[in-house]
Amino acid sequence: MTSLSYEVFPPNSAVGINHLNQVLAALQGLAPSFISVTCSSKAARLAQETVRVADYVENCCHVPAMAHLPAWYLSRTDVDRIMAQLRERHVGRVLVLRGDERPGLAKKDDFPHASDLIAYIRQNYPDFQITGACYPEKHPESLDMVAELQHLKLKVDAGCDQIITQLFLDNRCYYRFRELCAIAGIDVPIIAGIMPIINERQANRILRTSAVAVPEKFKDILAKYHDHPEALKQAGISYAIDQIVDLVTNDVAGIHLYTMNQADTARQVEQNIGALLQVSC
Ligand code: FAD
Repeated sequence: MTSLSYEVFPPNSAVGINHLNQVLAALQGLAPSFISVTCSSKAARLAQETVRVADYVENCCHVPAMAHLPAWYLSRTDVDRIMAQLRERHVGRVLVLRGDERPGLAKKDDFPHASDLIAYIRQNYPDFQITGACYPEKHPESLDMVAELQHLKLKVDAGCDQIITQLFLDNRCYYRFRELCAIAGIDVPIIAGIMPIINERQANRILRTSAVAVPEKFKDILAKYHDHPEALKQAGISYAIDQIVDLVTNDVAGIHLYTMNQADTARQVEQNIGALLQVSC
């Protein structure tokens, strides 16, 4: 069976706690394999909000929760505190990341790469399931795909049980990456991260900030519907469903949907692909 999971982000000024609780109630109804909770709030609140929402997902929604942990912004003491909190709350999954530069937020020195924190958690908290991030089209800082795979191999060998990809719009990138991973001896499940792109602002931000290849088919959708929000939303969801149907048909290990806290999007996707997931690989 192929897993289907969702990513949410903790409340911020744009998305309040009530909205998030409604989103989580809707996602719970879709019976996901797990829900991951990002960690992108500011300074002191960093990680505490993630722990709080993960606790809610695990213990109030009764869905397995996965807490994101950004290595750059955590000291060993922070990690020990957070892992104790997670264990106490029966949250047994972490997605370990390096994090990105954030203006005004000081880095800590204990874990320079995601693999350093993964090794630390594997050694000191062996009962946790550990997931890492990966980039079918290469992380922007990697010199080339060889360096990308060498570092990914180090990361997986440090203790990843599975990896989740950055979003991609062209499935051929995922298939090529999966082959390269097999050649490099990276043999953990590679879950595909899929983001339904449902408005122009989101499309522009993604096209500006990430290095994903944009197929002509997707460019045509943007060109035709950018002035028609409802049509663009529908086309964006259909595009993601199309990607997922193809991925599941080609034995992807799992789908992780970047929901952007939009329950309606997740619901539409699940309704269209739920039955496919029941068919074993
Ligand atoms: P790393 O694995 O450390 O890799 C980063 C770069 O360093 C790569 O170029 C890699 O090749 C290189 N590298 C790795 N190891 C070495 C080494 N030993 N020597 C030299 N170079 C090396 N960010 C957040 O802040 N919060 C989140 O919640 C969050 N969630 C995410 C979820 C997913 C599924 C993904 C794909 C990304 C997420 N991010 C999040 C973004 C992530 O933090 C950034 O993409 C970051 O730039 C890289 O993180 P990483 O864990 O892949 O880093």
